[in-house]
Amino acid sequence: MTQTLPKIEELPSIGPKTLDKLQKLDIFDTNDLVHHYPSRYIDFSHQTPISQAPLKQSVTVKGEVLNFKNIYTRFGKNIQKATISDNTGYLDLIWFNQPYISKSIQIGQTYAFAGSIDLYQNKKTIVAPEFGDFNTGKIIPVYPQTNGLNSKWFRRLFQTNLKKIVDSIDLLELPPSLLKKSKLLSKKEALLQIHQPNNQELLNQSRQRLALDEILALQAQSIIQKQHWFSKKANRQLVMTPAMAKKFDQLVKSLPFKLTPAQIKVWHQTLADLISTPPANRLIQGDVGSGKTIVALLACYFAHLNHTQSLLIAPTEILANQHFATFQKFLSKSKLKISLLTSSSKLTPKQISQSSIIIATHAVFYKNKDLLNNLSLLIIDEQHKFGVKQRSFLSELEHLPHTITMTATPIPRTLSLALLGNLSLSYIDQLPKDRLPIKTFLVPQNKYQDCYSWIDQQINQKHSQAYIVCPFIEDSEQNTAVKSATAEFEHLKKVFPKQKIALIHGKIAQKTRDKIFTDFKNNKINILVTTPIIEVGVDVPNSTIIIIQSADRFGLAQLHQLRGRVGRGSEQSYCYLFTESTNQKSIDRLKYLELHQNGLKISEYDLRTRGPGEIFSYLQHGFPSLKLATISDSNLIELSAQIIKSLQSDYPSFDLHQLIESPHLSFTPY
Ligand code: ADP
Ligand code: MG
Repeated sequence: MTQTLPKIEELPSIGPKTLDKLQKLDIFDTNDLVHHYPSRYIDFSHQTPISQAPLKQSVTVKGEVLNFKNIYTRFGKNIQKATISDNTGYLDLIWFNQPYISKSIQIGQTYAFAGSIDLYQNKKTIVAPEFGDFNTGKIIPVYPQTNGLNSKWFRRLFQTNLKKIVDSIDLLELPPSLLKKSKLLSKKEALLQIHQPNNQELLNQSRQRLALDEILALQAQSIIQKQHWFSKKANRQLVMTPAMAKKFDQLVKSLPFKLTPAQIKVWHQTLADLISTPPANRLIQGDVGSGKTIVALLACYFAHLNHTQSLLIAPTEILANQHFATFQKFLSKSKLKISLLTSSSKLTPKQISQSSIIIATHAVFYKNKDLLNNLSLLIIDEQHKFGVKQRSFLSELEHLPHTITMTATPIPRTLSLALLGNLSLSYIDQLPKDRLPIKTFLVPQNKYQDCYSWIDQQINQKHSQAYIVCPFIEDSEQNTAVKSATAEFEHLKKVFPKQKIALIHGKIAQKTRDKIFTDFKNNKINILVTTPIIEVGVDVPNSTIIIIQSADRFGLAQLHQLRGRVGRGSEQSYCYLFTESTNQKSIDRLKYLELHQNGLKISEYDLRTRGPGEIFSYLQHGFPSLKLATISDSNLIELSAQIIKSLQSDYPSFDLHQLIESPHLSFTPY
């Protein structure tokens, strides 16, 4: 901001000590000061004669002080007592340990007192009443308590200075006609009302208005990011000629299945990006098993038809290997070079430059950013595993490849609207049609054995395979109730003496892990005991059973991901949730999973019941530090989106950058 703000120290009665305390609250100038909002309010606007004052409700009464006593108790404490009266009755007042009150209250004078009246030794009494003009008779703000600067201090300061301060700050105002149309308070009015509300209605409006500013800032930020990204030119310009279209159709026809309408829709959205001049920045959301990989494959093939190179990155080696195998299989007839680049499969620079499609892990890619120079297309699979920092380096590059990210955690609309405005969004909102819903059961502890016997049977009769997932690798001393993969493995070997059973987790050497996993894929292993290492992407359609041990230890999004390891073929699949927890909230969450299959619904439920924390951590998204707004408030977020739209279309001279500076927040960029 370029404006010079009025200095705090120029306000009356603010000395160096107070300045120091204010700075501890991150208040450095008067603009910060007015954005230090009350945390709650007490409504003392009900003024009543003493005789008519209701009990146990916040009221203000006025009366003459008849007596005042400072009483010292035996334990070094002291009590202040007063009696007041108006011409309707008497009221006792009691304070604890506030001897200085005697200086402000004089016998014979009349004051307003506020609080909630109780009967104390059968007399009407207010304990610790507020008094003085700015603490009574209206809706009184309560500020977050801080060392030495209490609510009274802020009330007193604002009582005489608020209007002056607000007038002197050059506030960002939305265009008056827009405010009027949307029935919004001006920012100035909102700041006055939030500290000194005239009534409940204006208070609500002011909080709503200032909360709106916070969401406007979030949305403006992502729109500016988007403009920044789209102001660049893609590394390579791609086209779809009729000859290419023909080859492309041949590939689609050669696939072992028909694309779902949702896959076709999302592919068309993606293609439209790929033939545009600016680099694509699209997020493809699609529930587990919805078939995102094929869309990635089509995009890579399209890049190849344009004689350019594409790179697909996956979070784990297992997944990179799996994609590599899928691509080789589905593209076997097209003569193109596909290469695998992981820490156990290195490539020479020459091999890299000769590849049409490279499949790598996130980690290897992040260490070899040179790879980007020749790319026309970068696809990031399971983007939530690709951290915030890793993602943000992309937007700093001068030349960008078309970038497509894919995630299996559908993001609730409110969160997307608030935070993902920088991305073009696609949603594969349909599973391939041969899929049966995964039968999910929360298994009572006394049925574990039956469950195991049934699984044993299924494996024997149908040659199906099972995952058994535990939250941790090893037993923890702190938490003996939580199952560890290592201990369970030993136990399960005894439970399933006839089955081939193997253990994988992150501490097992990569080579061994790969071998076990390949054996599992080839049905040489019946039961795989594992940690959530298999959580994302792993695709073994013949496994139809998954048990999740200590299921309460996982977030819903993660459970849904884990469950998505089964139900990937046309056979009926089963997910069994085991838990030792008796916590009702945990049980309710697991029950929700029992009844619901749709990832978006599950994310929304999570957002409603547990707040955005889990989804945020899943997305590895920094939590924006909002003061008034809640990130799941859909009305507010829709309103904010409308306002931005209207600003862009009807007020082209309005610079969105201003919105970011306005509400005084700090954001983590996506
Ligand atoms: P995800 O979206 O979870 O990444 P995948 O791309 O791994 O899902 O696809 C899951 C499984 O579904 C794979 O075995 C894939 O070959 C298969 N598949 C993808 N598209 C279709 C389709 N249209 N019809 C039938 N099976 C499909
Ligand atoms: Mg996948």
